[in-house]
Amino acid sequence: MYITQSLHRMIQRAPDRTATIDGERRRTWAELGAEVARFAGAMRRLGVAPGDRVAILSRNGDHFLTFILGTLWAGGVINPVNLRWTVEEMAYSLVDCDTRILLVAPEFEPLVPAIRAGTPGLLHILSTEDSDRDGIVPRGRWMADAPAVEDALRRGDDLAAILYTGGTTGRPKGVMLSHANMVWAAMGSMSHPGCAPGGMFLHSAPLFHVGALSSLMIALFSGATSAFIPGFEPLAMLQAIEAWRITDAFFVPTMLRMTIDHPRFAEFDTSSVGRLRYGAAPMDDTLLDRAIEAFPNAGFCQAYGMTELSPTCCILSPEDHSAEARAEGRGRAAGRATSVCEMRIVGPDDTELPRGEVGEIVVRGPTVMQGYWNRPDATAEALRGGWMHTGDMGRMDAAGYVTVVDRLKDMIITGGENVYSAEVENVVATHPIVAAVAVIALPDERWGERVHAVIVPRPGSAADPAAIEAHCRAGLAGYKIPRSIEFVDALPLSGAGKILKTELRRQRVPPAA
Ligand code: ATP
Ligand code: MG
Repeated sequence: MYITQSLHRMIQRAPDRTATIDGERRRTWAELGAEVARFAGAMRRLGVAPGDRVAILSRNGDHFLTFILGTLWAGGVINPVNLRWTVEEMAYSLVDCDTRILLVAPEFEPLVPAIRAGTPGLLHILSTEDSDRDGIVPRGRWMADAPAVEDALRRGDDLAAILYTGGTTGRPKGVMLSHANMVWAAMGSMSHPGCAPGGMFLHSAPLFHVGALSSLMIALFSGATSAFIPGFEPLAMLQAIEAWRITDAFFVPTMLRMTIDHPRFAEFDTSSVGRLRYGAAPMDDTLLDRAIEAFPNAGFCQAYGMTELSPTCCILSPEDHSAEARAEGRGRAAGRATSVCEMRIVGPDDTELPRGEVGEIVVRGPTVMQGYWNRPDATAEALRGGWMHTGDMGRMDAAGYVTVVDRLKDMIITGGENVYSAEVENVVATHPIVAAVAVIALPDERWGERVHAVIVPRPGSAADPAAIEAHCRAGLAGYKIPRSIEFVDALPLSGAGKILKTELRRQRVPPAA
């Protein structure tokens, strides 16, 4: 089982069908296959041996898919760089996983001198296009006369990717994923009723993040066309959906909010969207209701998982998004284990808790990572007892639906009571003046920690803390009501579009000197 198998299959079945769309450029599966075999030839010529890491620093595009499939075809391991990192963080990851080759898109070339200074082991820096500044090798040169080579035909347990975690809660760790990990995760998410993609998949979330990468795997293994825009931007997204009659797209909740709130949303024909996947961060109910209304033809699929799970272990199918299911509360769950994963809720001593009780979510199955790169202790800790410990708190009902209540690290302990930040956010978000909210713990002399809400008001709304408090009083137990409320213009987001609560806390509570 290996990832390029998907490409062989499509070259054989539908060589003339469109594989990729990027701006004006369209490539068939046969053309993509030929390009991938030559890219692999170029990598081999530069010395890439099976298991070697190849990195890319680029926004999305059809060249990103060539990089992924071509590196794997050569037997290498992909190591996409998070575009939102500082140069130091980029260099840290390249050195950490001993990457020899880095591909760079023109817009990131100004970073190259600093990256090079921090990465003595880097042998080649290649341009994804034809520029040659700062000793970057232009594409025309490194691809010139590259021989089309045979696929290295890796095995399921060979490494396919080293992906750094989102960095939402601290220094990112390199997660080692095998070919089989990623194929099983894609198969598992497609196997839920109503979740198999249609023919035209839009990739707008950043491909260095596992959520977008998994959408790409799903598109490949279902034979869908992959359409690319350089990055997430609501207007470009809406234009692409209309122009290319997109059937499938993946959104992180913040992206979904920005899309449906876009003032020109109604001008676009989005009726082709048949499945809308979302996940990677908690979705609030109010936003989900509005999204379901905004995309009436779409079946909604929620994915829960993490980089360490390749990433998906749990899906909430379209049928669980019906008005009836949502009224019963099922729509608030993150879903049920995919057909290939097992999920459990355990207490602090790792024993399974009765259904309905809140504990840590642990997962077992073929999508669990091979480990953290160069971090045997962190690996042993995360995988103890053969289960991946997610660091997420949740509960499971009798029918196996898992509700994620919070990250362990985001939970607020106030006066000895546990408050799940996500629960408070859900209530605050239903107030009409609230566009976005993050609830965090701040130190409190009396209570240990106190519940603090950071709110982005809707444009034109007055910041009215008393109104928010009254609203919370109606929907939350006393100890969960934010003790302090603050209004800001925007929340800090990670490269994947997740709210950086660690950053919010750091801004408010500088670490002790
Ligand atoms: P880091 O591990 O570096 O702090 P990160 O955990 O954000 O970053 P990812 O692997 O991208 O990195 O994200 C996985 C986490 O995202 C999960 O552990 C969970 O907290 C959250 N998450 C993912 N999907 C969902 C979902 N459907 N609902 C709620 N939370 C989700
Ligand atoms: Mg994590």
